[in-house]
Amino acid sequence: MNLCDIDTIRAVLGRHGFRFSKSLGQNFLTDETVPRRIAEMSGAGETGNAVEIGPGMGCLTAELCRRADRVVAVELDRALLPVLGETLAGYDNFEVVQGDVLQIDLAALCREKFGEAQAVACANLPYYITTPAITALLESGAFQKITVMVQKEVAQRICAAPGTAAYSAFSIYVQYHAEAALLFDVPADCFVPKPKVDSAVIQLTPRTQPPVAVRNEKLYFALVRAAFNMRRKTLVNALGPVLGSAMGKEEITELIQSVGLDARVRGERLSLAEYAALSNAAEGRLK
Ligand code: SAM
Repeated sequence: MNLCDIDTIRAVLGRHGFRFSKSLGQNFLTDETVPRRIAEMSGAGETGNAVEIGPGMGCLTAELCRRADRVVAVELDRALLPVLGETLAGYDNFEVVQGDVLQIDLAALCREKFGEAQAVACANLPYYITTPAITALLESGAFQKITVMVQKEVAQRICAAPGTAAYSAFSIYVQYHAEAALLFDVPADCFVPKPKVDSAVIQLTPRTQPPVAVRNEKLYFALVRAAFNMRRKTLVNALGPVLGSAMGKEEITELIQSVGLDARVRGERLSLAEYAALSNAAEGRLK
């Protein structure tokens, strides 16, 4: 069964009386090359096990099942369970877990299903949970590789370099925890129903060590968030809300200059390493 064929999709979903839910971000792939490429590039075949978030009708799941030893898919919508029962009946290495990816302990799920063996994560993510889902996948520490389709702008933001319009606090968060790469674009007309925006597939390879030495991660990310909350302001003004209770404006200026930066620079220009230098210097002074 070609699970990306529009007539097949309509026939199967019709048999089960299924209706697409906009609020659950249900846009199913209709171009079979896309799930094939995602599964191929995901590392599922080499790693052995895969977790998929939001299998929908199972087009990506089937491609993963062809390559991996075991595939566990987390699907929130109960109405899709009988659909998956039909579409993936031919695979004995597949299991669906009904639940919300944001509520499930992904590390515990991997331990329960795969023991000590390694796993990769894959998804065509529902748009409405992109950021928290990527955060949960990274923070679980359970995956060798995370290959996900997201809205194109979000993909660009995640992979953005300092000083570009797309660079954001989330770029720094993701790049601190993983190596991020943009794999390929997927136009909106590859889905049913057709979304308003284009998508892109990215791959995150979690790091074993952060790329920069940070003494206090909480302070590091607080400074990053403050800088981007007021990205049109100069760094010295933007950092006021985090450092202002402990330091005056002159002291903040001096702190920024002490790591070789101009106090009038905007936070959107700083690299991960420059934020590390800034937060390490601030930590020394806050004690
Ligand atoms: N993988 C399928 C495909 O590519 O055609 C469907 C992808 S669709 C964009 C997103 C899927 O995620 C839907 O099946 C939806 O029901 C499911 N979903 C939505 N919110 C979820 C959540 N919080 N946890 C797990 N699955 C969720």
